[in-house]
Amino acid sequence: MNHVAYIGLGGNIEPRAQTLMRALKLLNGRDGVSVRQVSNFIQTEPVGGPPEQIKYINAAAMLITDLEPEDMLIVMQEIEAELGRDRKAEQRWGPRTCDLDMLMFDDVVRQSEKLTLPHPRMHERLFVLEPLAQIAGKVVHPVLHKTVAELLVVIRR
Ligand code: ATP
Ligand code: MG
Ligand code: MG
Repeated sequence: MNHVAYIGLGGNIEPRAQTLMRALKLLNGRDGVSVRQVSNFIQTEPVGGPPEQIKYINAAAMLITDLEPEDMLIVMQEIEAELGRDRKAEQRWGPRTCDLDMLMFDDVVRQSEKLTLPHPRMHERLFVLEPLAQIAGKVVHPVLHKTVAELLVVIRR
């Protein structure tokens, strides 16, 4: 388990909290993945997407893993599918049972069609930074060179 990854979890189809708990269990059950820290679950207003969605529950988690980022993303997408997410049937930023985003993976910086690290919108999102700061306030964003706690202060202004 030689890598540290931070992920963001979110969902706004009931049972929301139960689904995120299941996602964490499924992740932890995978070979080469161990969930080490989990933030509180917070309730947040939907951002973007179609109107009249119910609120999200969001959380962040720290994992250690042997997997490389691309393989980790595949695992995360398999778990989203297992929890009933059907990407083809949904609207952008519309309701979903479970969204698992890779926020940071060690200090990896990369941009490809499938995977951008750190997550390109993480620093703009209160629903990401608030839970992430609970478990990773001192972790430095490898592109912006600010800690998660500092990024949170910036967007709260
Ligand atoms: P957002 O990325 O704005 O949070 P979303 O999570 O709703 O939106 P998805 O439908 O879950 O978007 O994912 C769209 C694509 O994003 C996926 O096919 C995936 O390959 C790609 N992607 C790129 N970088 C990442 C990342 N760091 N974590 C998760 N998915 C990523
Ligand atoms: Mg997302
Ligand atoms: Mg996603």
